[in-house]
Amino acid sequence: MDRILSGIKPTGQLTLGNYIGAIKNFAKVQYEGETFLFIADLHALTLPIEPETLNKNSRDIAAYYLAAGLDPKHTSIFLQSDVSEHSELAIILQNYLYMGELSRMTQFKDKSSKMKEEAIGLGLFAYPVLMAADIVLYNANRIPVGEDQVQHVELARDVVKRMNNRYGKILAMPKAEMVKVGARIMSLSDPSKKMSKSDPKGDIYLSDSLEVMRKKIMSAVTDMGKEIKYDPINKPGISNLMTIMSSLSGKSFEEIEKEFVGKGYGDFKRAVADVVVNEMAPFKARYEEIIQSGLVDEVLSEGAKRAKVVAKETLTRVQHAIGLYRK
Ligand code: ATP
Ligand code: MG
Repeated sequence: MDRILSGIKPTGQLTLGNYIGAIKNFAKVQYEGETFLFIADLHALTLPIEPETLNKNSRDIAAYYLAAGLDPKHTSIFLQSDVSEHSELAIILQNYLYMGELSRMTQFKDKSSKMKEEAIGLGLFAYPVLMAADIVLYNANRIPVGEDQVQHVELARDVVKRMNNRYGKILAMPKAEMVKVGARIMSLSDPSKKMSKSDPKGDIYLSDSLEVMRKKIMSAVTDMGKEIKYDPINKPGISNLMTIMSSLSGKSFEEIEKEFVGKGYGDFKRAVADVVVNEMAPFKARYEEIIQSGLVDEVLSEGAKRAKVVAKETLTRVQHAIGLYRK
């Protein structure tokens, strides 16, 4: 039986990138195994954030999970900070990951490059340690993520290898998996950059009104020429919009190219906006209903209870293996 695990950190408003690369896919794969899905609130502390914002973002993610069709009867949905084993295991694992490899992580390099050295928190540097703990606690073998998180899952694999070589087979080996189309949605204003919730440039937010979403797509940066063609090197803007369209409509790039032969960027963008709005209208309506319903708290408490049972078992196994026990 597969164990599937993933999470999103409540650092900001969720984007269309998070929806396509992560949430929509979580809902699709959830029944292929036993699924644990958390809100990585401890990870959100790695960049400065207001307490109320962190709290609101966390509840929002839970509501978006539910709105996307994640089924709380099947999938355990919980807050990372509600299961203290995440922190406890991270303290252990930090001794099996090394400064050199942590400093080579793209996310760390990207996010810290914008800061003064004195202001870079240890948590940002040690992010992959906590993420390795998140993963191995649930004996998860399948880790659905967007492209940017694959490097961290690789590091979790390294730590599993190290622990298992040293102490016997105590941890399951995780593997990252990505959606075929849409694992890296780019910014609409700068298609050389990933759309990121902590970097507001060129984002479509799930909280944007349908009107705003449409406007943002209509004003997305496009490329030289006027052909609708999938060519990420020479036509990154159009290719990004094609990716959005393909991932939401199921049409292949070839089909989209054929459909728009002889048509211009304006027609194409209108069609992309239609696809996005058609997907987002019912999704956003469900989200509103869920937020009003008070369901979120119930789901999070139940999810944490179930998660804790599995997490505790793994932590105890690790503690025993490394010598942290009383006779
Ligand atoms: P942050 O700027 O705080 O890092 P983020 O938008 O990158 O925010 P994460 O919480 O880091 O979001 O990632 C949540 C999930 O969404 C991960 O699986 C990640 O790989 C995926 N994801 C993030 N951005 C994109 C994107 N632009 N396209 C596809 N998937 C994405
Ligand atoms: Mg990210």
